[in-house]
Amino acid sequence: MRFSFEVPMNKPLQAQGGVMPSDLELLLKLQIVDYDLGELERSKEYLPDMMDNLRTEIEEATSKLESTTAEFNEKKVTIKTLELEIAAKEAELQKYQQQMMSIKTNKEYDALVAQIDAVKETISNQETELLQTDERVTELEREIAEYGEKSTSAEETNSRQLAILQEKIDSIGDKVAAKETERDHIITQIPRPIRSIYERVHRGKGGTAVVMVKKRACGACYKALTPRKVQEIKKGDRIHTCENCGRLLFWLEEESN
Ligand SMILES: [Zn+2]
Repeated sequence: MRFSFEVPMNKPLQAQGGVMPSDLELLLKLQIVDYDLGELERSKEYLPDMMDNLRTEIEEATSKLESTTAEFNEKKVTIKTLELEIAAKEAELQKYQQQMMSIKTNKEYDALVAQIDAVKETISNQETELLQTDERVTELEREIAEYGEKSTSAEETNSRQLAILQEKIDSIGDKVAAKETERDHIITQIPRPIRSIYERVHRGKGGTAVVMVKKRACGACYKALTPRKVQEIKKGDRIHTCENCGRLLFWLEEESN
């Protein structure tokens, strides 16, 4: 079990010219700044990843269009070749059919019929292939139009997003510096013992160090609080930590009961 802390805390004070923030308000502010700093740190990882994805999308759309166009051109050549081959086979067939007129023997007749059948079969196969190739070409024309549009829109949309993300990446340094300044300003106003509890929990838990009591339990680990501890946290004059997870607990009337 962890040691739980109770450290005196400043409530809001009336000072000249306004209300001085309480330690709790400062801690919550500090927590928001730390969250923002964490997000900025994480964005150094995920912004380049997002950019890579956007670039990949453009590349994929372009390469899809290129491969479809290449297949289209290839099929066009196939059609031309098949048409020439069919024309040649038809000329051959006509020649055989003319030879039929001058047939002398049964043997000659049988041989010629066999040749005619073979040519007819070749023509029939090539016509089938031609038909299928034609259908594929029609399909490819539709795909080229579709991928062309996709490629253009990916290029436009993603380039815009890429520029925005690049700007974000370029400004991370300035934003971090501004948040660090804000952090320094807040932290100097927090009493040292409270600050050190916060820093330790924040580092240890990798994030949220100050949590609201929820339904009379720690809002982070849900460890139930004793009625006495609840009363003390409610008073708000001391920093209380969760004996289970060590986070700093605070009370918010409408949420904590
Ligand atoms: Zn806890």
